[in-house]
Amino acid sequence: MNFNRAVIKVGSALVSPDMKGCSGKYLLAIARFITECQQAGKEIILVSSGSVAAGRQLIQHGSPTPSIPTKQAMASVGQMQMMANWQRFFDVPCSQLLITHGDLKDRERYINIKNTLRILLSNNVIPIVNENDTVATDELKVGDNDNLAALVALVSDADCLFILSDIDGLYDQDPRTNSNAVLIPEIDKITDDIYKMAGTTNNPIATGGMKTKIQAAEKAVENGIETYILNGRNSDVFEALLKGKNPGTVFKANQAATKARKHWLKHTLKSSGKVILDTGAVNAVTNKGASLLPSGITHINGEFAAGESVDIIDEKTSKIIAKGICQYSQRDLIRIKGCKSSQITEILGYCPSKVVIHRDDMVIV
Ligand code: GLU
Repeated sequence: MNFNRAVIKVGSALVSPDMKGCSGKYLLAIARFITECQQAGKEIILVSSGSVAAGRQLIQHGSPTPSIPTKQAMASVGQMQMMANWQRFFDVPCSQLLITHGDLKDRERYINIKNTLRILLSNNVIPIVNENDTVATDELKVGDNDNLAALVALVSDADCLFILSDIDGLYDQDPRTNSNAVLIPEIDKITDDIYKMAGTTNNPIATGGMKTKIQAAEKAVENGIETYILNGRNSDVFEALLKGKNPGTVFKANQAATKARKHWLKHTLKSSGKVILDTGAVNAVTNKGASLLPSGITHINGEFAAGESVDIIDEKTSKIIAKGICQYSQRDLIRIKGCKSSQITEILGYCPSKVVIHRDDMVIV
């Protein structure tokens, strides 16, 4: 398996296949796959649908298409059931992140999500993400978990996205109505023709369909994230993946885009300030692949907010050695420069991150 950090999206049809609350029927094989990935040193984030489906029987509703507040109540009660259902398949702890598109659009909240995921993964926790259905209005919603999973893959710097549902992959025509339909194993470029191959979903409990899966794949591959559409009902799929085979449809990551983020950081993103380092920190950043800690910072120039890009300067030569996205504003940085990470809370009253610029957010110039 050629990835380090993957997002696995699990659809409602797998969490609640009979629409009668949560079921372990398909989750067991998925959980086993996740555990094997972790044992192989990979990091996994789950994006799980199914809160509405899991809560459906617990909230009275007269109609097959319940009102939005009724669905929100279903999501509220179902989310608990769904999380408890996942947790029973893992020995490691699971954590819950409920987010909306509004959270991902807001720079500060985006960084908070990124930092939280990073810390959870480094503590061997399985983050389980869903849309915060009970608070999200249409304008603030991603709307479907396929696209949400792609956004989570972006915010978490994942290099692979697995979308698990009840279909083997992308077919050239709808396999439910056409027995000649052929599964397409590999897609290099997402074109209009690819979108045309995607029918609409027939599953009454699922929100997305093939179209939202392709949209998600498009977002991901453009950012260098390889994306698979796979049948999560078939445990052979996981055996195949573990052997490095492709048992469904893979959308190849845009190779140029794989380095695009670093390129964007290096060439496109305008720096709003300068962070100046002592020799030890310069060595750690340039030769040891380290993140930038507050202790090695001697001066700060310019005005910048948390989440903005800064130039990283060697104090001795006055040259730019790197660029990166700073976790702290210049005001906060002035107060913590030269200090140990463990002192940040004491000085600022809070500690959103132990590092000032994380390695993933940095490019050596
Ligand atoms: N957030 C919804 C739920 O948990 C699912 C959305 C989707 O399946 O795309 O029920």
